[in-house]
Amino acid sequence: MFLVLRGVRVIDGLGHVRERGTILIQNDRIAEVGDARHVSIPRGAIEVDARGMTVLPGLIDCHVHLCLGGEPDVVKTTQAEDPALTLLKAASSARRTLEAGFTTVRDLGFRNHAIFALKKAIETGLLPGPRIQAAGLAICMTGGHARFIGREADGPSGIVDAVREQLSAGADMIKFIASGGVLTPGTLPDRAQLTQEELAAGIAEARRNGRRVAAHAHATEGMKNAIRAGAHSIEHATLMDQEASDLMRKQGVYMVPTLSALATAVACGLAAGIPEDVVNKAQALRARHSASFKQAHRAGILIAMGTDAGTPFNYHGENAQELERMVALGMSPMEAIVAATSSAASLLGIDHLIGTLEKGKLADLVIVNGNPLRRISILQEKNRIAGVMQAGRLVSGPLSKRA
Ligand SMILES: [Zn+2]
Repeated sequence: MFLVLRGVRVIDGLGHVRERGTILIQNDRIAEVGDARHVSIPRGAIEVDARGMTVLPGLIDCHVHLCLGGEPDVVKTTQAEDPALTLLKAASSARRTLEAGFTTVRDLGFRNHAIFALKKAIETGLLPGPRIQAAGLAICMTGGHARFIGREADGPSGIVDAVREQLSAGADMIKFIASGGVLTPGTLPDRAQLTQEELAAGIAEARRNGRRVAAHAHATEGMKNAIRAGAHSIEHATLMDQEASDLMRKQGVYMVPTLSALATAVACGLAAGIPEDVVNKAQALRARHSASFKQAHRAGILIAMGTDAGTPFNYHGENAQELERMVALGMSPMEAIVAATSSAASLLGIDHLIGTLEKGKLADLVIVNGNPLRRISILQEKNRIAGVMQAGRLVSGPLSKRA
């Protein structure tokens, strides 16, 4: 089966834009992208009426927690909640994420292994949602940050056991907690957690099994420990110094900024019911985080988009707010789109499948009414998302109803 989109603005995910382009889709793949003169349309191809709209690759969020629903105190909510209810909420959040144009997410810590059931339900078409790459539980030290969605482990051999447990459950990649965090009471974001030896043992085990590694780190020392131990991405990277920046650039380590996490916590604050300790930590880190983002961008460090969706008031389905925040700190709209498409796909190791609008890639794309290169915030306007396509199927938006 052939689908064709004609007269559309094509943003390819690699930094290029083509006005009045044509995209031909055959089954689940992009068969051709170009201008009208050079793309021949097979007889019987079905036209998706997207003329005048903008088409970009399906967006990718490299840092979400589908088990968290953006409640003011997610630690308390998780501890009190029936795990079955958590899974139902996660399924609903997954649908909202897809409807917002995000066709792929990386889940960096779920309260149990039910994330793998959700992933399978989406893969098999039982439920709508983004493709999921999942870590299972985040691996942290005893008493460490994120233990409410984590597996506590100590000592190199204990860490290796924890990694194997996630792999056995179906983990696509592994998440480590390399510093304290904002949400977990009593942990200090500016202090490293897990020792260099523990991280080295755990990351070596993940790599031996062909898995990539994301490391949560606000603290400078935590970042460096994780980079030296071989992490593929540093999540947050809040307190970056020159040495950490140089190491990241040299080793090709990605920064996943998650600007939305601190921003939403600070904006909603105490009045909204966020615990005082969380608000204080978020306020203390926010300016440094902005500076680190700017430094990374200036230094040419690889940046992949991630929101930390699920943290207080950082809702699933509002993931595109992160692009506006990155643009506010100096990225061009085109750079922000690259961070949320090809760059994110490279970090996830699936850039041969998704992340760009190129011949041969899976047809994951978003059709938007308007030009996000003029105003990036239009990606947050639900009524502008005319269609979301996943592997050649229109799965959401008004165009999916007409098709
Ligand atoms: Zn997170």
